[in-house]
Amino acid sequence: MDRRDFLKTAGAGAAIVAGSAIAGAPAVHAEKKIRWKMVTTWPKNFPGLGTGANNLAELITKMSGGRLEVKVYGAGELVPAFESFDAVSRGTAEMGHGAAYYWKGKSEAAQFFAAVPFGLNAQEMAGWIYEGGGQELWDEIYSDFNLKAFSAGNTGVQMGGWFNKEINSVDDYNGLKMRIPGLGGEVIKRAGATPVSLPGGEIFPSLQSGAIDATEWVGPYNDLAFGFYKVAKYYYWPGWHEPGTVLECFVNKDAYYGLPKDLQEIVAAAMKAATADMLADFTTKNNAALVELVSKHNVQLKRFSDDVLRKMGELSKSVVEEVAAKDPMSKKVYESFNKYRDQSVDWAKIGEVGYSLARALTFEG
Ligand code: CA
Repeated sequence: MDRRDFLKTAGAGAAIVAGSAIAGAPAVHAEKKIRWKMVTTWPKNFPGLGTGANNLAELITKMSGGRLEVKVYGAGELVPAFESFDAVSRGTAEMGHGAAYYWKGKSEAAQFFAAVPFGLNAQEMAGWIYEGGGQELWDEIYSDFNLKAFSAGNTGVQMGGWFNKEINSVDDYNGLKMRIPGLGGEVIKRAGATPVSLPGGEIFPSLQSGAIDATEWVGPYNDLAFGFYKVAKYYYWPGWHEPGTVLECFVNKDAYYGLPKDLQEIVAAAMKAATADMLADFTTKNNAALVELVSKHNVQLKRFSDDVLRKMGELSKSVVEEVAAKDPMSKKVYESFNKYRDQSVDWAKIGEVGYSLARALTFEG
């Protein structure tokens, strides 16, 4: 095959030759262009989460100068949402974007890397994962599935949910049918409620028809988009059940460690950038959406009482302790997580919380 024929073939295949456009110039170096697929648990372009996955793919493609090109697939395009983990594990796709609590059926301990009721906020999750030993534990869990784990986003603290009756005491949860997944669902179950898990698209009609009494989703930005204010009266805060939910990107280990070292570093750096970008996106859009919900749609914002929060905190404690008792890995992660929370609470109170309260004295909207 002469060089021109080779280039023609390469155009349709996976290889390109750098510098080949210069007629007669010798090929200085030839590097195979790498193409990866990223499957996601979100509908394509879903605000915040799906767009966060798109951003990560673009970052990797751009930072690598196109040497590693990542294509994103929405839920169901290549595999159904909840088959992403297995698909990447076996190498059908090289990367997957989701939230670790979806994989509790694989490993109970995975839940600690998404959201724990009364657990760590967004800053603390980053602290624990990057500096507090969290990453090593997460890798240890995912390694059994031939995966490398990365933080790839954070929603920040979520909202407590939408209700059509006031929640004045924990007893008001009794008999309530609420869409709330994960450990938060387990907690309200202990308070006598029935937690249900519904995908995003089914929540609004279920709330409208009365099939469910209440729901949580994410926060003002996403909740406004779903129009929950049309079918629920009260919007409660804070989201004690999801204080700083981490979105993840898991990568097939063979694919990741098969990359040249510099591309491995680029992927890892893009994950950190995507984590910061998503949090900035939510921070910016949540505030604008909150203002719109209250001023334009007359949503009644309500804070859970200290009494409700204290009781939910107690119930959460026992729920999380039970998870820790399920297997040795969960116990190990629980101990690391708890240690980090214990060493975070004092600074959080006088640091971010202390400052926010001080600022509100003068600048509250
Ligand atoms: Ca949520």
